[in-house]
Amino acid sequence: MGKLKALPNRLTSLRPGLGSLPPVERTRDEDRMLHAPWRKLYKTARWRALRMVILTRDMFTCQWPGCGFMTADTSQLVVDHKRQHHGDEVLFWDERNLQCLCAPCHNSRKQRAERAQRH
Ligand SMILES: [Zn+2]
Repeated sequence: MGKLKALPNRLTSLRPGLGSLPPVERTRDEDRMLHAPWRKLYKTARWRALRMVILTRDMFTCQWPGCGFMTADTSQLVVDHKRQHHGDEVLFWDERNLQCLCAPCHNSRKQRAERAQRH
């Protein structure tokens, strides 16, 4: 009970003067970039080459069960880490940990599955 009563006071003291500012809007991606310096690995030539290896291996076809979307437009495809690597470079570069997903599967279903894992 004491904790609950103290909470409002603590919040105002942590954010002095911020009450009048609009809330900071940050996309999920920007948020992840800020907290994940390994994101720079995605900008390397090695990753771009590996990405093509995986897309070719998976025949430009979404590997999500029941999807099977296929396209030659690689901007619609995402090379996804099955197990989240969290900066672990062994997992990051492991071809067996990589799969081709279409953007909609990656963005909706995969993220939902990852959120479910975390909780
Ligand atoms: Zn898909």
